[in-house]
Amino acid sequence: MCIFCKIINNEMPSSKVYEDKNYLAFKDINPKAPIHILIIPKQHIEYLSDIDDSNKHIIGDMAIIANKLAKELGIDKSGYRILINNGEDAGQEVFHIHMHLLGGKKMKFSV
Ligand code: AMP
Ligand code: ZN
Repeated sequence: MCIFCKIINNEMPSSKVYEDKNYLAFKDINPKAPIHILIIPKQHIEYLSDIDDSNKHIIGDMAIIANKLAKELGIDKSGYRILINNGEDAGQEVFHIHMHLLGGKKMKFSV
């Protein structure tokens, strides 16, 4: 089972900030910004590239959760970034689709 599925099943600890029937959000263990949260579907999907017409609502649902959390955390006005890495060149480390929510500082764009 992947590490994010273990977090979903409470077999691994995490700092949860949001949970509903289908999604979970928790703090990134190695934050790259003052606010760094990961939003995941409870369904195990490995890649962004696995998203198609049948499951595209997952991307929208995660974005809505990111917006809600950004508001709660007070970064909705200052700005924030959402990010999904897909595959090796993007640096994907965990193969369970996740949306990063980053904020709390002025960010640069680097590749
Ligand atoms: P990515 O490079 O897009 O696959 O991002 C994976 C992210 O998961 C990284 O930012 C890691 O710091 C984070 N991460 C890995 N393991 C854990 C964990 N057990 N709890 C919270 N975040 C984690
Ligand atoms: Zn998984």
